[in-house]
Amino acid sequence: MTALVIDVGTSGVRAAVVRDDASVAVVQHQPLLPNTPFPGLVEIDAVELGRVALDLARRVLAEGGPVDVVGVTNQRASTIVWDRATGEPIGPGLGWQDLRTIGECLTLQAEGIRVAPNASATKLANLLDQTDRTRDLCFGTIDTWIVWLLTEGAVHVTDLSNAAVTGLVTSDGSAWSEPILERLNIPPSVLPAIVDSTGIVGAATALQGAPPIAGIAGDQQASLIGQSCVRPGLAKATFGTGGMLDVCLGPRPAFAVRGDGGCFPIVCWKRGADVVWGVEAVMLTAGSNVEWLRDDLGIIESAEASDAVAAQCADTEGVVYVPALLGLGTPHWDHGARATLLGLTRGSGRPQIVRAVLEGIAQRGADLLEAAEADGRAAIASLRVDGGMTANATFVQSLADATQRPIEVAPVTEATTLGAAYLAGLAIGTWAGWDDIAAAWAPRAVVEPARVLDRDRWAEAKRRAGGWYPELSALDF
Ligand code: ADP
Repeated sequence: MTALVIDVGTSGVRAAVVRDDASVAVVQHQPLLPNTPFPGLVEIDAVELGRVALDLARRVLAEGGPVDVVGVTNQRASTIVWDRATGEPIGPGLGWQDLRTIGECLTLQAEGIRVAPNASATKLANLLDQTDRTRDLCFGTIDTWIVWLLTEGAVHVTDLSNAAVTGLVTSDGSAWSEPILERLNIPPSVLPAIVDSTGIVGAATALQGAPPIAGIAGDQQASLIGQSCVRPGLAKATFGTGGMLDVCLGPRPAFAVRGDGGCFPIVCWKRGADVVWGVEAVMLTAGSNVEWLRDDLGIIESAEASDAVAAQCADTEGVVYVPALLGLGTPHWDHGARATLLGLTRGSGRPQIVRAVLEGIAQRGADLLEAAEADGRAAIASLRVDGGMTANATFVQSLADATQRPIEVAPVTEATTLGAAYLAGLAIGTWAGWDDIAAAWAPRAVVEPARVLDRDRWAEAKRRAGGWYPELSALDF
């Protein structure tokens, strides 16, 4: 079996051919950033995004095709509205980071409806408000839009892992939520059908050979599955520009919106009557702190160099960095926190500061793990990791030291791509079931804890970083 995967991330689009030995054979990637016309506004050119995705898909097919099946994975919650008859987008697509509807979210909150500004719900309402509502329109997240384009307008669907983070679905994930649709004045006719994450939804007639589309999942869910976290208690963390930790649980968590530990419920996947839930913990910045060292402070040549520079010292000699450039996510959700460098002396140099940054991100990783354990009521014995930062040995060791768990490093940088291929392959019998996918895990390295990073001292450092802008700290979504 070979699968074509289209992976639309926040900063770029990737197309790849995946073989049934779980190898990623042919990859094409194109950076594609959203437009930010004004701070807080994040807009997507849906036509351009579709053109890039189809172009990359055709290129990898030419090189590595034909394929038996297609999988799609995507940045979640970004919102597109288009005309059903012409396929033309209405207005810009709104990226998940877009904050233009924050006021609306606060109004809803006062009415007892909790919708985060980065969910699709208020973005969709905003786009519909600017158009003639009598038109026959379609709403979609990025998966919906890509499947629509692949099927040349024949299929209008989203999978439950994507639908469940729109803010428009009932808390048990069984259907679109009528009270929310009504409150936001969203006609049900614009909504896609909610389908399984694995299962054939239609033929990709826009591609040579019209292969069936059979796997759809949000990016973090695809990464979870791509790292074979398909059994309760198996968890992965992705350390890219930001960081996300996801744990597979099974039953739905007891909370609908956010747990006491600051985690969100997620649908890992839906397959027939089987809906598998998990929880997700979020750090707002990870690798972007390394970018700050490189681009703003200029104390490292490249992101990779942070490893060798940090390795010049055995410990930070009391320097602690709290990576809160955009505030602190799970478990605090303190939007007014700011990054903090503590414990400097005349002897603190480049190695200590660079190491403190890597250790600070690792400590945040441990925060996320502990929060996911608490909110998920699960023990996480070891942590699987992917993303750009996992190439950094000092960072991975620090993560083992902060979490006091073995860290299993993913063998491919494209775990997300692999997860979408697993979902598509499951649908056509390439993999008989979840056991096959669980058994496919083969980490590149397993890093054991070698020392203890002080968690109490860390908690004190975070306390000092918190509440720096009290008016922002007061916001709670
Ligand atoms: P994304 O998918 O969010 O775009 P990636 O997974 O490609 O991110 O990772 C890129 C991020 O990881 C950047 O912020 C970069 O600074 C950081 N990064 C990449 N390589 C390293 C490294 N060797 N050490 C530390 N940070 C790294």
